[in-house]
Amino acid sequence: MKKNANRKKTEWNRMLDILYPRHCALCHEILTAKGAVCLSGEIRGGDPLICPGCRGRAVPVTEPKCKKCGKPLAVQEQEYCADCRRRPRYFEEGAGIFRYDDVMRVSMGYFKYRGRAEYAEFFGRELYRGSVRQLERWQPDLLIPVPIHRSRMAERGYNQAGLLAEQLSALSGIPDDQVSIRRKKRTAALKKQTPEQRRKSMYRVFAAKKGVRLPKRVVIVDDIYTTGSTVNALAKVLRQCGAEKVYFLTVCIGTGEKM
Ligand SMILES: [Zn+2]
Ligand SMILES: [Zn+2]
Repeated sequence: MKKNANRKKTEWNRMLDILYPRHCALCHEILTAKGAVCLSGEIRGGDPLICPGCRGRAVPVTEPKCKKCGKPLAVQEQEYCADCRRRPRYFEEGAGIFRYDDVMRVSMGYFKYRGRAEYAEFFGRELYRGSVRQLERWQPDLLIPVPIHRSRMAERGYNQAGLLAEQLSALSGIPDDQVSIRRKKRTAALKKQTPEQRRKSMYRVFAAKKGVRLPKRVVIVDDIYTTGSTVNALAKVLRQCGAEKVYFLTVCIGTGEKM
């Protein structure tokens, strides 16, 4: 009985793969129903979420890194990046898994703006693989994805950070909370703004629902970390709601301003 059900499930999955083919999260080509076989690749039984040719294309962040935000630094002797030296941080510590380079810039564009919600599976898995040590050390009680404004949710149909938090939650067993905090303001794309403008536009962007009390240790989850103004603004609100230690994890992290 169970065998039949399993066979049915596989057949069904095969059907879905034909109707809605999966794409490689790094080159955006169609992966076939046989898993890791890309249209251009031949290897079977590899990574089912990216094609063989894309192995190693996402570059993990290595030392030297900022001791606070985990951003890659140019010089080994520095302890903190320019942003963490200049401004108060409401989070304890954080980490980004991959360098925010051209490959990741395009990939994140597909993930956020071109409907490739399926990439959450690859990025969520990498987020987990890359942060196992941190999670063990931090012992978080809860994951909170950076919320998006409801008008953006209506346009996009999903919150990419929410999908990442769901994946991370499923892999780590740490619960995720996507209801306690909301985004009150729809902010313009931060990448076009100066650091000063970014900080100002993040003022009172997030608010907690009435009566929300958060557990002690919370991890913020997001797709990209650049200057940290978004994560910092959210961390401040989480602290006001009772979180004593706030950490963050992102798939990508920008390189320091002065490289
Ligand atoms: Zn690929
Ligand atoms: Zn830093």
